[in-house]
Amino acid sequence: MSENTFELPNSSPVEPTRLELEDKIKFQCHKGISCWNECCSRADVSLAPYDIIRMKTHLNIDSSEFLKTYTVPFEIDAHGIPGIKLRTTDDGACLFMKKEGCSIYEDRPTACRYYPSGLLSMRALGASEDERHFLMIKEPHCKGHEEDREITIADYRKEQVVEEFDELNRDWYRIILKKKSTGPTIGAPSDMSLQLFFMASYDIDRFRRFVSSDSFKNMYDISSEELTSFKNNDTELMQFGFKLMKQVLFGELSIKEREGAYDKRTEERKDVLAYRKAVELDEYNRKQEEARKAALDD
Ligand code: SF4
Ligand code: SF4
Repeated sequence: MSENTFELPNSSPVEPTRLELEDKIKFQCHKGISCWNECCSRADVSLAPYDIIRMKTHLNIDSSEFLKTYTVPFEIDAHGIPGIKLRTTDDGACLFMKKEGCSIYEDRPTACRYYPSGLLSMRALGASEDERHFLMIKEPHCKGHEEDREITIADYRKEQVVEEFDELNRDWYRIILKKKSTGPTIGAPSDMSLQLFFMASYDIDRFRRFVSSDSFKNMYDISSEELTSFKNNDTELMQFGFKLMKQVLFGELSIKEREGAYDKRTEERKDVLAYRKAVELDEYNRKQEEARKAALDD
């Protein structure tokens, strides 16, 4: 296998060739094409953090309401890193699809902008930097491939205004790649870090309330300028969330903790931890006793 090809299951509509920015694709989508809306009637769209900010702002609702109404959860990896997809009707159609096309077109998510190409973020084993390539999806229903237009991936990204999305989501993709590549060494993330990952990635308005809380401010040394910008700017807050995730998941210390905050928090949690340990020990003893009885019965 050459270095710009990859293996895929036989049924996959993804072409097994890695594309670069200067590679050309033959494709055009336009109103009036015979397959208009076919792709959105069978939507399988995963979302990244900046996608959600754009969509919830378009709809003028807060992120929690957006998640509840328009998304379904899935797991990104075996450690249960939470992902979010667009909810569909029972027939698989995207809830934003209208006869005339996408009802949130100017704020549609990254995956819809890329289609029928896709972003292929990867990290080679042992490498510290991620690599960015592209792929091509050819599905029988999509007639755009039969149109007579050639365009480079770079120009297609410009046409679809996807560069801004990639740039703003880039650190988040890196976190996921790092988590996948270091999973077994660092181990399964705790429930608390998964909750933080979910909130900071997808539920930005709830994350804003969390960052403004006294307990957060007592823990981290955040300037009043930063707090003001987090109050008014979803994108700045999202970037701060990425830093916090790196700190919690990988121990990359870029947000200053207040002196003694860690010890104080540990002290405050001591009782809770002791209680948890006692419960776990009880549970362990109970299971041992059950196993012993079952062995005697046999
Ligand atoms: S968000 Fe818009 S472009 Fe994307 S699947 Fe839904 S209707 Fe189609
Ligand atoms: S050409 Fe492809 S992307 Fe465009 S409407 Fe048809 S199925 Fe969708």
